[in-house]
Amino acid sequence: MTVRELEPVRIPGICFIPKPGSPLRCTLHHGHDGEHYHAYDRVEWPRYEGEKQ
Ligand SMILES: [Zn+2]
Repeated sequence: MTVRELEPVRIPGICFIPKPGSPLRCTLHHGHDGEHYHAYDRVEWPRYEGEKQ
């Protein structure tokens, strides 16, 4: 891995859909299967119909 986590780098290909009703954002890769997931808070939430992938 060459990702430098201490720098505010936007990583292309990440799924960045905000969780409905909260500021959390999905941290999985773009186009992942299943529910969205926030890696740091370990929160999952379902995808909504009509979301762009
Ligand atoms: Zn997602």
